[in-house]
Amino acid sequence: MGKLMEIKKVMVIGAGQMGGGIAQVCAQAGYEVYLNDIQEESFQKGLAVITKNLMRNVEKERITEEEKDAVLNRITKSLTLEDAKNVDIVIEAAVENMDIKRKIFSELDQIAPAHTILATNTSSLPITEIAEATTRPEKVIGMHFMNPVPVMKLVEIIRGLATADDVYEAVENMTTQLSKVPVEVNDFPGFVANRVLMPMINEAVYTLYEGVATKEAIDEVMKLGMNHPMGPLQLADFIGLDTCLYIMETLHEGFGDSKYRPCPLLRKYVKAGWLGKKSGRGFYEYN
Ligand code: NAD
Repeated sequence: MGKLMEIKKVMVIGAGQMGGGIAQVCAQAGYEVYLNDIQEESFQKGLAVITKNLMRNVEKERITEEEKDAVLNRITKSLTLEDAKNVDIVIEAAVENMDIKRKIFSELDQIAPAHTILATNTSSLPITEIAEATTRPEKVIGMHFMNPVPVMKLVEIIRGLATADDVYEAVENMTTQLSKVPVEVNDFPGFVANRVLMPMINEAVYTLYEGVATKEAIDEVMKLGMNHPMGPLQLADFIGLDTCLYIMETLHEGFGDSKYRPCPLLRKYVKAGWLGKKSGRGFYEYN
């Protein structure tokens, strides 16, 4: 094996829930970060969340005021993909849409230097298909962070069909630098995390749909019986029922197997706009 590819400068695309968290942990680990979004307003929203998180860490005496300022100083606003010229890795965390991701990757491929790794935080889209939009599929890889990023230890590292070994190793090493735990996975629908989690959630919705038990009872069984920190229906509300449905559809289509059929009740809730915590109502009500 040759020398590890060195990563110093990072560009994160999308300053939303995930992108903001990824930018924060990168800056905390000492990387220079361009945080990119399509609009100034979205960037500012993302930066405000990061600032709030860091202030809470200062209050809890986990970091000093100076450290907080140093972390914020390592984050640079970016409103154009042209900034990819300056970085060693791009971590894309824009919306979960294949056309948009392929467009972003094809543009990045034109802009970024030849050595730059192009990573995506997609939770369900095929890495290999995103890679195909570039002329450097060997440098394209999945880096699937969990939500909330500053708290959750796992990063699923997904190898596309063409991903090179030295690219995998560089990303694995960077993940460790972020104080996260990398786990290697190959590119199949749902990877591992969502392939195992979503059918469980979907099955919990079926037990509700078929009247096997109440929602509270289903969640209680899984919490107390399986030692899960929260029940599957509550977890689905936190993830977003639209996201859960979307991932089940990806599994159903990707494997062509009826065992991944989304529960009609899940579909009905999404059609009703009951998307979980973010919309105020899912299986439970929130205010
Ligand atoms: P989000 O809606 O909170 O944030 C998306 C951000 O991307 C927004 O700020 C939006 O303005 C920006 N954006 C959209 N198109 C863009 C473009 N072309 N260029 C630059 N910025 C653009 O979404 P999120 O929950 O942070 O999810 C982002 C990605 O992370 C998705 O691919 C999602 O599947 C994946 N993911 C989400 C979770 C989760 O729990 N939410 C977990 C793991 C992975």
